[in-house]
Amino acid sequence: MLSTMQDVPLTVTRILAHGARVHGNAVVTTWTGDGEPLRRTFREVGARSVQLAHALRDELGVAGDERVGTLMWNNSDHLEAYLAIPSMGAVLHTLNLRLPAEQLAWIVGHAADRVVLVSGSLLPLVAPLLPHLPSVEHLVVSGPGDRSALAGCRPQVHDYEELLAGRPTEGFDWPELDERQAAALCYTSGTTGEPKGVLYSHRSIYLHAMEVNAAASFALTPADLALPVVPMFHVNAWGMPHAAFMAGASLLMPDRFLQPAPLAEMIETERPTVSAGVPTIWAGLLGELDARPRDMTSLKTVVSGGSACPRALMRGFEERHGVRIVHAWGMTETSPLGTIAYPPLGVTGEEEWEYRLSQGRIPASVQLRLAGPNGDHLPWDGESAGELEIRGPWIAGSYYGGAGQEPILPEDKFTEDGWLRTGDVGTMKPNGFLTLTDRAKDVIKSGGEWISSVELENHLMDHPEIAEAAVIAVPDEKWGERPLAAVVLRDGSTVDYAGLRAFLGERVAKWQLPERWVSVQAVPKTSVGKFDKRALRKLYAEGELE
Ligand code: ADP
Repeated sequence: MLSTMQDVPLTVTRILAHGARVHGNAVVTTWTGDGEPLRRTFREVGARSVQLAHALRDELGVAGDERVGTLMWNNSDHLEAYLAIPSMGAVLHTLNLRLPAEQLAWIVGHAADRVVLVSGSLLPLVAPLLPHLPSVEHLVVSGPGDRSALAGCRPQVHDYEELLAGRPTEGFDWPELDERQAAALCYTSGTTGEPKGVLYSHRSIYLHAMEVNAAASFALTPADLALPVVPMFHVNAWGMPHAAFMAGASLLMPDRFLQPAPLAEMIETERPTVSAGVPTIWAGLLGELDARPRDMTSLKTVVSGGSACPRALMRGFEERHGVRIVHAWGMTETSPLGTIAYPPLGVTGEEEWEYRLSQGRIPASVQLRLAGPNGDHLPWDGESAGELEIRGPWIAGSYYGGAGQEPILPEDKFTEDGWLRTGDVGTMKPNGFLTLTDRAKDVIKSGGEWISSVELENHLMDHPEIAEAAVIAVPDEKWGERPLAAVVLRDGSTVDYAGLRAFLGERVAKWQLPERWVSVQAVPKTSVGKFDKRALRKLYAEGELE
């Protein structure tokens, strides 16, 4: 029989109403560089979200489940779009401003965005793109920026503030939404194949936000100030904006000031307690802090995810700046929280490090399993490595097919029984901790054995004279594939490749040691700041023997 409980839909509308009313005095601070930061209370953000909804519907004709694009930095206007657009029943489509122009144009066309909100500072990037965005009829420009770049462009240009001005701050008749309805759309970075649209539901966003707020997670409370360094165009800034509005945690928004020096300055002056971003950001910040120390002690939790977090980075922050980094794993398809590494009670020393460096433990709502080469499921014994398959209420079950189209279910992405194939290879401990050994496509298959590129990279990045290291497979006549290590040496470094081989030789089996080495200025990065191994493979497909 069914329960006797009320069936209340879990929607972004609820998050908006709750945050604006109950946590009305919490503050969103947007960094402005040299000027005074812009501060708005949740109450004001709520009222402006209502104005935005009125403007989008009454002035620009946004209706039904149409996609509304945002090409914006992390700031309070973007938060208003986050809250207003899904609450209206429309779909917030965050656009990754670091994508190559052709990909952006493809994505806007695929989603058929008619209205796009854009940060003024991005107009030089957007203006040349406009002729390639035939679906876009209205451009709404937020914040400072030279509007003259848009002179004579086809879409109608509106100023965000002017569009909101004078509109009612309450009384929008938000529709009654089915919690399974689409709320937000984010395309995967498309490092392989065409970008794929992940269409989050109100329910998935709501449940994910509750998990972000859990104690063994980001643990946001009304006593926190959360700094999402991870962009709001990258998997909903890992759910932090929704989670903060829900929990009443104030927000510090970095806008476009993501370089190490302004980040260090805003952390010292505004004193956030929780932050999240990719390791590249933290590595940059650590370098800045080592050169020009600043007070980072307000930070009690810094989550690093998106790619493996090197031990040297965690140690450096902890020992020299008193900041503890927590490692997490996820992907666009997983909203993104899949696992997070809080060690169990009682573990200390090396064992604790092993837990902290693992990708972490799954929360109760998420199920993981490991698929072996024949599709059989492998045991959680901490040894057997297989492809990770995942299932749960905030995990994608298909991809957006485009306006008016059926969802797409690629066979290589979903199992017959509906689990998502992550493309990641790893092991599971009996107590639910995941350790990634590689991406399926990055594993180096050498003479029938697998070499983990990630393991080699992590060891190399522990070397004090190495700033970055990426290991890729290169073709090899005898073994099929062998590892090639691309390293970025620190200024003044004197170590040679033989020295690095010897260093690695103390940490991994001899047959795994790379014979091929190259020194590079910087490892190429993807649009979200991860090592771009595809670019490296292109460069060194034939290998460069030193
Ligand atoms: P996102 O856009 O959230 O970074 P992508 O879907 O582009 O997600 O990439 C997700 C992939 O990033 C994962 O499948 C995994 O290979 C990698 N990744 C994410 N977090 C980690 C981590 N903590 N350690 C190692 N790899 C990670």
